[in-house]
Amino acid sequence: MKTYRIATIPGDGIGKEVVPAGAQVLEALAKTTKSFAFEFENFDWGGDYYRKHGVMMPADGLDAIRDKDAILFGSAGDPDIPDHITLWGLRLKICQGFDQYANVRPTRILPGIDGPLKRCKPEDLNWVIVRENSEGEYSGVGGRVHQGHPLEAATDVSILTRAGVERIMRFAFRLAQSRPRKLLTVITKSNAQRHAMVMWDEIALEVSKEFPDVKWDKELVDASTARMINRPATLDTIVATNLHADILSDLAAALAGSLGIAPTGNIDPERRFPSMFEPIHGSAFDIMGKGLANPVGTFWSVVMLLEHLGEVDAAKRVMQAVEAVTADKSLHTGDLGGTATTAQVTAAVCAFIERAAVPAANAA
Ligand code: ATP
Repeated sequence: MKTYRIATIPGDGIGKEVVPAGAQVLEALAKTTKSFAFEFENFDWGGDYYRKHGVMMPADGLDAIRDKDAILFGSAGDPDIPDHITLWGLRLKICQGFDQYANVRPTRILPGIDGPLKRCKPEDLNWVIVRENSEGEYSGVGGRVHQGHPLEAATDVSILTRAGVERIMRFAFRLAQSRPRKLLTVITKSNAQRHAMVMWDEIALEVSKEFPDVKWDKELVDASTARMINRPATLDTIVATNLHADILSDLAAALAGSLGIAPTGNIDPERRFPSMFEPIHGSAFDIMGKGLANPVGTFWSVVMLLEHLGEVDAAKRVMQAVEAVTADKSLHTGDLGGTATTAQVTAAVCAFIERAAVPAANAA
């Protein structure tokens, strides 16, 4: 039997509620099979760790999780700590330290969920957004001088490298090729940003030649927001820079019904390091500690984690359980207009996984 070693990092706010729920689902799944098991190690990094130690995670923290098969992450964000410290001190440290350069964000309207788009049928919205996760606007290059003086100046320099763009384009084309519609939209802003984004467009064209069976087009980032709302069915796989995709994927999550449902994977496609899976929502301090957080974004992230481990059938089983539960409105949490608790949704998903496994076990 294979044992997968999973690092759990709940982080802050509702991360502390949804990550244990995600681990519970993996445990329930493991009970239904003899082919794999999970060994969890939990890391208490985040805002509370910062208050005690002055850092979000220890200096040698990456070494503690380097040999894991995958990481399940919650969120980083604390009302008393500046956002750039919580973000750079934990999540980005892991993403960049492990060169998880492809951030993958599937979006669909799950059964039972009412999206805000009146004319959009659920089958019209089935996207995967690929976010460049290692450079661009979040390169961390820049500086501030003459602070507090009238001539104070500050820069955030967006850097794109040929190697960085080639690898994310290749990843996105390959992903588009693996999906039924074989359709990719490359998001750009090369009308206004006339250096790096022009190189981005040129490299998209070059890489496209390796994938003659993938249909692709280019769309300006501003126009793409309108297209997502007015013509959602014209999109399938989407690739964009770090900042553009960050914004578009929050829009995508809202169009699919709730931020509480959307998952993401920070992937090292070369598998040199563990990849990290997390719901896209943040710490949601307004509902933390009340047991009201929607764990579905974390469960869908667990599905992505299983796919990454190559456990494709198990991933399908968890997704079926998630969809059965979202289809039942009595199991909707507050963000979806319901009154269900995190614990109720988690118990229902675990019960479905266990029930669904019984016929399979008998058949074997
Ligand atoms: P951060 O600063 O860490 O990004 P935030 O609180 O500003 O966090 P989010 O947590 O991403 O932003 O979400 C905004 C709001 O959406 C929350 O305040 C909460 O009300 C709601 N929300 C987000 N995720 C969930 C969830 N999983 N379940 C229920 N409500 C959620």
